[in-house]
Amino acid sequence: MESLEYYVGHAILKDLKEFDMDLLINHLSMNTKLRPIIKEKEEEIKKLLSSYGFTFQKMFFTFQGKEILVDDKSETLMCINRISLYPKYGILEIFIVYKNKKILENIIELLKEHPSIKELKDGTYIETRKILQYNEDLKKLSPHGKFLKDNNNINLCKKLYDDRTRKLIRNIISNFENLPLPLDLIKTEIAKKKEEKEIVEKICRDPNLFEKKFIFVCKRCGYPSFDISFNDKKTAEKILNDSSFSFNCANKECNSNEAIIKEVFVVKKNVIKIIRHGIWLEYMIAEILNTETRKVWIGVMHDNDELDVVAVGLNKSILVECKDGTFGQNDLYSLMIQAGDINADVVLIVTTQPVHPNVKSTLNKYKEKGKRIMKIIEGNSTEIKNELNKFLNNLKKEYINSFFIWKPYRFIPDFLEFE
Ligand SMILES: [Zn+2]
Repeated sequence: MESLEYYVGHAILKDLKEFDMDLLINHLSMNTKLRPIIKEKEEEIKKLLSSYGFTFQKMFFTFQGKEILVDDKSETLMCINRISLYPKYGILEIFIVYKNKKILENIIELLKEHPSIKELKDGTYIETRKILQYNEDLKKLSPHGKFLKDNNNINLCKKLYDDRTRKLIRNIISNFENLPLPLDLIKTEIAKKKEEKEIVEKICRDPNLFEKKFIFVCKRCGYPSFDISFNDKKTAEKILNDSSFSFNCANKECNSNEAIIKEVFVVKKNVIKIIRHGIWLEYMIAEILNTETRKVWIGVMHDNDELDVVAVGLNKSILVECKDGTFGQNDLYSLMIQAGDINADVVLIVTTQPVHPNVKSTLNKYKEKGKRIMKIIEGNSTEIKNELNKFLNNLKKEYINSFFIWKPYRFIPDFLEFE
């Protein structure tokens, strides 16, 4: 079922009372190769649905307000649910599985031009309302959001998804801040294993991650002079050979005045920022959410709170807190307040460090009390990716199933106003 190509949309009806479902179904089946099956025997329906990969233990279909149309080659399936927003508004929820995009486009065209349909929009009604609301509420970017407006920074984040790269650069930063360092020094101080030495060499020579500079080093004792650095070797040579320039070794015991030029590497400022603030993790999560949801916001303000990632899709609003570090009790409290403020259906805590059992038990208490789905995803970046994809796949299964299961009021939203 995971590999299904599907379309979800909702059609706003012109007038609920005037609307005739049978007429619409006739119109659709006359102009496509689809035929309605809801009046067929339950066993037949089950068989037909299973040819698309859908399996249901029990069916809750009623004849009213729902229709499923299929073609004989099991290539296209369409499910229509009528939802009434009393007293006079109504929408049709449309779910279409397709193999051929042309056929999908044809169905959408037929729906759009049907006289009882006012408007057809992508996504469910709930999703559309939530997106409109968040577009308004989450307009302002946080500092991280502004930082990620720059494509160069996004590309840096992608390079830093790699756990080993990040770990090595983090070690360089914590040992030497952003001093210009010769490659051999970085290798002996940071890289312990042989393969790490190779990675260090590779990342230092990546002009996106490190700046290459040239400094003077004492010829006798090797002591570096950090006072001046040059972007190119030629300038360094020119200065060194200039008769008005004199070098003095900064090592007091040495006092030599002879220098040589040495290539050094400096971690770029934005790389430090991305690692220190865990911005790479926020971008990685947003990127994954983007594949399964309708809209993703990254680095936005809600009132005075900075939200890491927010998404709407699969009929849910999802708030994600990312921590490349320890997620503690206080983080949980403020996250729960934020989730309440934006009325998130799902709260995800994504962290590279194990979460303390006390925090987990507090989270479980929240879970028991409310309807909100809450989940902790912890581990290295590969583990996080896999866990999040698994979680989204489960949400997707539930979402797709929900179109087939008939519940009379599954959909009545708390906002009944209509434009
Ligand atoms: Zn010296």
